[in-house]
Amino acid sequence: MPNNLRVTIDPARCVGYGRCASIATGVFMIDADTAKAYTDDDVVGDAPAAIVFAAARACPTQAISIEQFGNRIYPRVIEPMPADIQQQLQLLERADET
Ligand code: SF4
Repeated sequence: MPNNLRVTIDPARCVGYGRCASIATGVFMIDADTAKAYTDDDVVGDAPAAIVFAAARACPTQAISIEQFGNRIYPRVIEPMPADIQQQLQLLERADET
C-alpha cells in the first residue's frame, strides 16, 4: 500500500555524508558524480514510512523534506544553514557601514 509520501532533497544542503543511504538503503542513493543524495518517487512511495522518516531525521543538514498530500510534514521548520547565517550577517554589517 503506497504511503503517499513525497521526498525532496535540497542539493544545496546535501553534503553527501550518506547517512540517509545508510539508514534507508535502496530508498536514498548517492550520485557518484555529484556526491549528492537522490531518490525516486516510486521507491519512496513503496518504502516503509518509518524508514523514510528515520533517514530524513538522520540528515545533519535538513536536506530532506517530506510531503504528504501536498503538505510538508517534515521538517516543520527548516533551519538556516550556518553559511546562510554568516552571509546574512555580512550583508547586515555592510548595510550598517553605508
Ligand atoms: S544524509 Fe543528508 S546530507 Fe547526507 S547524503 Fe543524505 S541528504 Fe545528503
